[in-house]
Amino acid sequence: MRVLDPVCGIELDDDLAVTAEYEGKVYHFCCDGCKKIFLKNPKKYRSR
Ligand SMILES: [Zn+2]
Repeated sequence: MRVLDPVCGIELDDDLAVTAEYEGKVYHFCCDGCKKIFLKNPKKYRSR
């Protein structure tokens, strides 16, 4: 399955993605760096 990294906007395979859960939704990231950026300010990215 292809997923979108909401921080840097790239598409990647969910097998390779780093995940984080926020408000019951799972988000996918290309790397730990993007996950950390997301977790610092999840409201900025939660719309999708
Ligand atoms: Zn990323």
